[in-house]
Amino acid sequence: MGARTGSEYLKGLQQSDAEIWLGDERIEDVTAHPALRGCAQSMAHLYDMQHDPALRDEMTYTSPTTGDPVGLSFITPRTHEDLLRRSAMMFHWSRFSGGMLGRSSDYINVEIMAVYHQNDPRFGENARNYYDYARENDLCMTHTLVNPQSNRALTASGHPSADVALRIVDENADGMVVRGARILATLGPLADEIMVFPSTVLKAASDTNSLAFAFTIPCATPGMKLICRESLAYGESRVDHPLSSRFEEMDTLVVFDDVLVPWDRVFLKSDPELCSRHFPETGCLTHMAQQVAIKNTCKTEFVLGIACSIAEALGSNEFQHVQEKIAECMINLEIMRACLRASEADAKIDKWGVMAPDRAPLDAARNIFPKMYPRMIEILQLLSASSLMLIPPDSALDSPVAEDIDSYLAAANCTARDRIKLFRLAWDVACSGFAGRQVLYERFFFGDPVRMMSVLYRTYDKQPLMDRVDRFLNRDY
Ligand SMILES: Cc1cc2nc3c(=O)[nH]c(=O)nc-3n(C[C@H](O)[C@H](O)[C@H](O)COP(=O)(O)OP(=O)(O)OC[C@H]3O[C@@H](n4cnc5c(N)ncnc54)[C@H](O)[C@@H]3O)c2cc1C
Repeated sequence: MGARTGSEYLKGLQQSDAEIWLGDERIEDVTAHPALRGCAQSMAHLYDMQHDPALRDEMTYTSPTTGDPVGLSFITPRTHEDLLRRSAMMFHWSRFSGGMLGRSSDYINVEIMAVYHQNDPRFGENARNYYDYARENDLCMTHTLVNPQSNRALTASGHPSADVALRIVDENADGMVVRGARILATLGPLADEIMVFPSTVLKAASDTNSLAFAFTIPCATPGMKLICRESLAYGESRVDHPLSSRFEEMDTLVVFDDVLVPWDRVFLKSDPELCSRHFPETGCLTHMAQQVAIKNTCKTEFVLGIACSIAEALGSNEFQHVQEKIAECMINLEIMRACLRASEADAKIDKWGVMAPDRAPLDAARNIFPKMYPRMIEILQLLSASSLMLIPPDSALDSPVAEDIDSYLAAANCTARDRIKLFRLAWDVACSGFAGRQVLYERFFFGDPVRMMSVLYRTYDKQPLMDRVDRFLNRDY
């Protein structure tokens, strides 16, 4: 099949009988449901970009098996040029949503590309075959890595809460049977398949064997349920809800009621030690972190653009404190760009023969952004004040009070109508339910920031720096 079009992607979702629940309703067709169809359309647009004559060459590469064009985010980069091509492709997708669609499928495609290198030898070429399958069918995937935890103290000891964690309960000639749940699968209702991989470190012990595995599975598998949170797409007007009407990517709890995972979809099993090493060993985090740094860059560009437009519209752009706050966003942008560029410039061939971005600058980018992003949202609020409230819905502009709105809501440098449009966007970035979820996403989607920082502390090469201090202390000149 190769690179899909948007309509092929939507058709796949329409034909799926995945069990998706929103409140008391089972959603039959996610492409038609008001909670999800806006984002489904946006995802379809990303797939269509692969066929846009002006972009096609930047969005696809030649399949190593069929010779057909396939999505560039699936490429196994072997050279710097490959890495930069992949980067350019990711920028095209991310700029489309101003970085708000964090889970465009490139995020998982690079993970699939990297993880096939470490396959439990008992499962032969399963992971490699799956990578080929995903690429050739241009699958849209999500992943779910974390067990729900009824007792956080247990995780710290390397033992998930066994009563709720996803675990192997049986196996037969066809596959292994799993029961339990996983959090969260962002984009779950709009994905074709889910990667169910290990992320938290498991203690190697007899009671963790049944919790240690990696597999992929279609969302439409008997026994699987995706339970949605409340939808944040409150309306379909592009003016009133400019972001949530387009990019509500949804987060789900995934429940597995004795789900049969066919053996050819199993990559790792009953080896806690191998599972715990999986992410660092395969290097997949650096490839994913490149996508994240690109998303962070695009998101910062978008927020900065909005901040500058707000200051100009309100005529506050000459106040020094306004300039100081906007300059803070500019610095954030340059830091993200610098980290991304350094990681690409210092990329090296890893032990799997893959051109991997340098990890250190990407670690810096992904650890600092959860602090930068909430601060930039605060800055939008501080620059806007009541302008974030003076945003009557679009329908008011066609009502008997339209004249009042035109008279009283004009700003220094824009009409009332343009002001409302701009501040509805600022609202969806800084105040709405969609905005709040974006902040939470940036804080947690890559993992708990406290434990991520702790990993950075433990793995950072500190000794040369301490040695230098020691030499200085012992110097008498
Ligand atoms: C919007 C959103 C989207 C997400 N999408 C996905 C997705 O698509 N796929 C996926 O797999 N995951 C996803 N996640 C989940 C994400 O991986 C987790 O939120 C993250 O790993 C933290 O786990 P938790 O939510 O269970 O937090 P908890 O573990 O409940 O942490 C809560 C608090 O307790 C503290 N804490 C808990 N345990 C420890 C400990 N051992 N040591 C120190 N402090 C501790 C934490 O620091 C934190 O302050 C998403 C999360 C969000 C918010």
